[in-house]
Amino acid sequence: MRFDTRLLHDGLPTDTATGGVNPPIVLSSTFAQSAPNKNRGYVYSRSANPTRTQLETLLARLEGGATGLAFSSGLGALATLLEHFPSGSRIVAGQDLYGGTWRLLEHHRRQFGIEPVYVDTRDAEGVGRELARARTAMLYLETPSNPLLQLADIAALTRLAHRRRALVVVDNTFATPALQRPIEYGADIVLHSTTKYLGGHSDIIGGALVARTPQIGERLTWLQNAVGAVPSPVDCFLVIRGIRTLGVRMRAHQQGARAVAEVLSGSRKVRAVHYPGLAEFPQRALARRQMSGAGGIVSSELAGGRRAALRFLKGLSLFTLAESLGGVESLVDHPASMTHASVPRREREAHGITDGLLRFSCGIEDPADLAEEVRAALRRV
Ligand SMILES: *Cc1c(COP(=O)(O)O)cnc(C)c1O
Repeated sequence: MRFDTRLLHDGLPTDTATGGVNPPIVLSSTFAQSAPNKNRGYVYSRSANPTRTQLETLLARLEGGATGLAFSSGLGALATLLEHFPSGSRIVAGQDLYGGTWRLLEHHRRQFGIEPVYVDTRDAEGVGRELARARTAMLYLETPSNPLLQLADIAALTRLAHRRRALVVVDNTFATPALQRPIEYGADIVLHSTTKYLGGHSDIIGGALVARTPQIGERLTWLQNAVGAVPSPVDCFLVIRGIRTLGVRMRAHQQGARAVAEVLSGSRKVRAVHYPGLAEFPQRALARRQMSGAGGIVSSELAGGRRAALRFLKGLSLFTLAESLGGVESLVDHPASMTHASVPRREREAHGITDGLLRFSCGIEDPADLAEEVRAALRRV
């Protein structure tokens, strides 16, 4: 079965009790036992819930891992994962990260003695040097990264990390398994904010972890139950429903993103366009090798800085100014003052999140309409 077919038929059995083509939403928090500790696999819905199991099975199949686990948010998934590491552990992470990921890693530094270090994941040698230092327990990659769309070579960096016995975790939120499956390149754990493309409709907050091996899966399953950051069965159902159309949506997102990136890259008012699908993208070869498509996110730095960015945003009608991404409707974000405001200015600017940067999450509208709107906005700048 090819990927788009698997979205509909792999891991989503017909409901055996009724023949329903959709999984039932099981709202019970607890389950009857025939005798103490005699049950049908379900005891209490923090530990396991039938609707969540359906989603978790689907996630594991799509990413090619042994175990899938669903969480109440992407950061809930990360917080649960961080519970695995004893204090004193070093975490080597990409320098261009989702702002909330950075904030949580820094919290763990202050509170629990975890030691995050940030590296340019485009530079394998530099990553290798950091991995070689003692007590490095995890390599944490976001590829493409948020918001600068920098790529990390998952296979190459995983080989380096595994030599040091560090766990490799890849945040696959931007690419989704439709375009990139990190476990195929050796990664140990894939993390998702299912809030984004997997849910796909901007109507739930959710997260996921997928483990490559049953052993890692067992440890994460234990932590999932111990911490309890689990999603509701209704939210699980909505993510399942979103996943069914992931293939067609990603193709549409990509067409919109390409149209927007081309308009931006053709304008004198634009200093830089970051989109893995453009011929001039510096890591184009890696994008081709590692991803089967360039995705739906484009970021771009306007030459006129903050003033230009604010003018650009005024009067947009198809792109809603909002945090988040990956929904069917187009959104635009000003990272410096919105999603990445928690990162100190100096750190932000040092690696390219300037006041002129805008991040576009291209929806599934007609690409020509998106291109027209961006062209008109550039005229105002
Ligand atoms: C949104 C996002 C997260 C955090 O997920 P939430 O569901 O908002 O908690 C993590 N990583 C990336 C790349 C994201 O875009």
